[in-house]
Amino acid sequence: MPGNGSLNGDEAAIRAAAEQIAAARYCTALTGAGISKESGIPTFRGEGGLWTRQGEPPMNGYQLFLEDPRGWWLERLEQQRNPPEFAKAIATARPNPGHLALAQLEQRGFLKHLISQNVDGLHLDAGSTRLTEIHGNRRKLRCIACGRRGPARDFGEDDVPPHCDACGGIVKADTVMFGEPIPRAFIDACFAEAAKSDLMLVIGTSATVHPAADLPLQVLRRGGAIIEMNVDATPFSAYATVSLRGPAGVLLPQVVQALDSFDPRPERPAV
Ligand SMILES: [Zn+2]
Repeated sequence: MPGNGSLNGDEAAIRAAAEQIAAARYCTALTGAGISKESGIPTFRGEGGLWTRQGEPPMNGYQLFLEDPRGWWLERLEQQRNPPEFAKAIATARPNPGHLALAQLEQRGFLKHLISQNVDGLHLDAGSTRLTEIHGNRRKLRCIACGRRGPARDFGEDDVPPHCDACGGIVKADTVMFGEPIPRAFIDACFAEAAKSDLMLVIGTSATVHPAADLPLQVLRRGGAIIEMNVDATPFSAYATVSLRGPAGVLLPQVVQALDSFDPRPERPAV
């Protein structure tokens, strides 16, 4: 379905978004760096982004980890003593009204699943539970052998690299590194959710990074619809039935409020 040209966050566009969410059989959402930025977390790419200012990190980070996991962990312990900008921002960031609105949409039965490209854990802090963090979570650890995940904990220099309690494999940060395949379970969960969706909210992301970019495309290909909420136009704007221009922390609470006069439809995945 082509876009209907609602290119701002005016009342009619908010209302149209709410009506579509209420009418959806299975509504999911995809979030990206835009919603984290509103909580003070710097973006990586684009104007003012961390990598724009400091240079891109090595593209073979995972290979470097595999070659010397102990060295990687020692570096991380050093960073904990003197945290870089991104780590400092994540440590102090709090969910913003956009994160809280998404958690409310889930609690009220309108949002069936949330897929985030962000690693900061703010959706969990906000109360979202039906959540797939496609690039991992910075506050978790993951075994590279069996994939078991657990909360981050403190290690001394003698304890690194840590090993998995279940299988003895080497444990790394859960965040997906450059050159590291996204864990199969994360990918499968995302595509299974996209396949069930007749509506996907695409929020704070230009969705140009794969595989996240493929998720709204899959919804469109199967005849579903997209509602976009972003500060700037994106490649998806032309395909969105409603394209709201503005910060998620402003738009989403308005959508939640507009949904006050609706009840969610019973859960029934698109086929
Ligand atoms: Zn393991």
